[in-house]
Amino acid sequence: MPSISQERREKLSSALFKKASSMIPGGVNSPVRACRNVHCDPLFITSGRGSRIFSADGEEYVDFVQSWGPMLLGHAHPDVTEAIIHAAKQGTSYGAPCPAEVELAGEILNAFPAMDMIRMVNSGTEATMSALRLARAVTGRSKIIKFIGCYHGHADPFLASAGSGVATLSIPGTPGVPEQTVADTLLAPYNDAEAVQHLFEKHPEAIAAVIVEPVACNMGVVLPKANFLATLRKLCTTYKALLIFDEVITGFRMAYGGAQTRFGIDPDLTTMGKIIGGGLPVGAFGGKAQYMRRIAPSGEVYQAGTLSGNPLAMAAGLATLRRLKRCGYEALEQKTEAFTADLESILKDKGLPVQVSHTASMFTVFFTESQLTCFDDVQKADASLFETFYKGMRKQGIYLAPSAFEANMISFAHSDEDFNMALDAAKHLTF
Ligand SMILES: *Cc1c(COP(=O)(O)O)cnc(C)c1O
Repeated sequence: MPSISQERREKLSSALFKKASSMIPGGVNSPVRACRNVHCDPLFITSGRGSRIFSADGEEYVDFVQSWGPMLLGHAHPDVTEAIIHAAKQGTSYGAPCPAEVELAGEILNAFPAMDMIRMVNSGTEATMSALRLARAVTGRSKIIKFIGCYHGHADPFLASAGSGVATLSIPGTPGVPEQTVADTLLAPYNDAEAVQHLFEKHPEAIAAVIVEPVACNMGVVLPKANFLATLRKLCTTYKALLIFDEVITGFRMAYGGAQTRFGIDPDLTTMGKIIGGGLPVGAFGGKAQYMRRIAPSGEVYQAGTLSGNPLAMAAGLATLRRLKRCGYEALEQKTEAFTADLESILKDKGLPVQVSHTASMFTVFFTESQLTCFDDVQKADASLFETFYKGMRKQGIYLAPSAFEANMISFAHSDEDFNMALDAAKHLTF
C-alpha cells in the first residue's frame, strides 16, 4: 500500500523520455501525453491493474486517466484479457470477415436504437472522417458545423480554428491543413443553438451535417444546456442536414446506450471508439440504414481498412460490452458525484476559485468560478493553479489528465480506498 505524501521516483521515466525524444517527435506518439501543459516529463507506464497503473520507476498510482476513456472496466480486466489471449491464439488478422464482427455489431446496435447499421474502423479519427464523408455524399453538400472546443480526431476538416474577428470564418488549426479544407467547416460556440440557427439561415442548402460531442469532454467536461441537443436535432431536420453525435467518449459511458439514449435524441449518424475496443485500437460509425447502405460495397461511398474488424479488437470490445451490461452505471455515477463534491469542497476550503464539473463517470477540475458553457468559458480557468494541483497530486500517487482542459475518467474498478487516497492527497496540497 503506497502511502500519501511520499514523493514518487520518476528518474527512469525521465531517462526513457529523453531517449524517446531523440527518436519520436516530442518523445510521445500523441501530444497531450508529453505533459507540456503542466511542465513536467511524462511517466512511462509498464502495467495496469484495475484502477491502478505502475510506472517504469516502480511506483504505483491511482489512475484517473484510464487511457483517456477506453478502460471503463479498469485495466487488465480478466474477462477482456482472457478474450484477447483466446483470440490471439487463433491468429491476429485474416483480412476476411470473422464471426466476432457480427457479434460486436449486434451488441452495439442493440444498445443504440437510433443506429440500424454500423461499420467498424480502427480509431475515433477514422470514424468521424468516414461519417463526414458519408454525410457529404448523402446530402450532396459540403459544409459542416462544428463546435469550438469539441474534438473529433485529427482529420483535416475538423482541425479548424475560429479566425479572429469574423466569427464564422475558419482558419486552419494547424500547419499542413489547406485553407480550402477548413473553408467548409463552420464554427459555433458550444451550447449556442442560436449561432447554429444563424449559420443555417445563411447557408440553408449547403450544410451537410452538424457534428457535436453530446457532452463536451475534450475541453474538460462541459454539459449541454437543456434543449441544446434537441434544438440541433430540430434544425438539422428542418434544413435536411445530418446530425452526427460523436460518442467516441460518451458511448457506453454516459449510459450503456450512450448520451443519445440518456438524452433521448436520435442522431442520424453516430461515431464511436474508445470503450468499444476495450483498450485495443477500434472505432466505428453507424446510423440510419438509408444512409449506411450508401457505404461501399453496398453503396458507392468508399471506405475501407486492412485491419478493420480485427479479431483481437472485436474480442476485446465484446468482452468489455458484455461485462458492462451487468455493471451498475447509476451506482458509479453516485460515487463520482460524492467524490467530486468532496474534492471540490477540499479545494474550496483552501480559498481557491474552483469547480469540479462532472457527469456519469467523468470529471474536470476547473480553477475558475465562472459559469462553464463553452470553450471561451473554460479558457478562464487558471492554468498555474492547475499545474500546482496536477504536480502535487502526482507526487502523492494520484495520476490525473495532464491538462486543465481534459476529462478525468473513473472506472468500475475504482474503490472507496482509491477515492479516499485522492481526497487525502488533495488535503495535503499547498498552493
Ligand atoms: C478521442 C476522441 C476522438 C478521436 O479518437 P482517436 O481514437 O484518438 O482517433 C474523436 N472524438 C472524440 C469525442 C474523442 O474523444
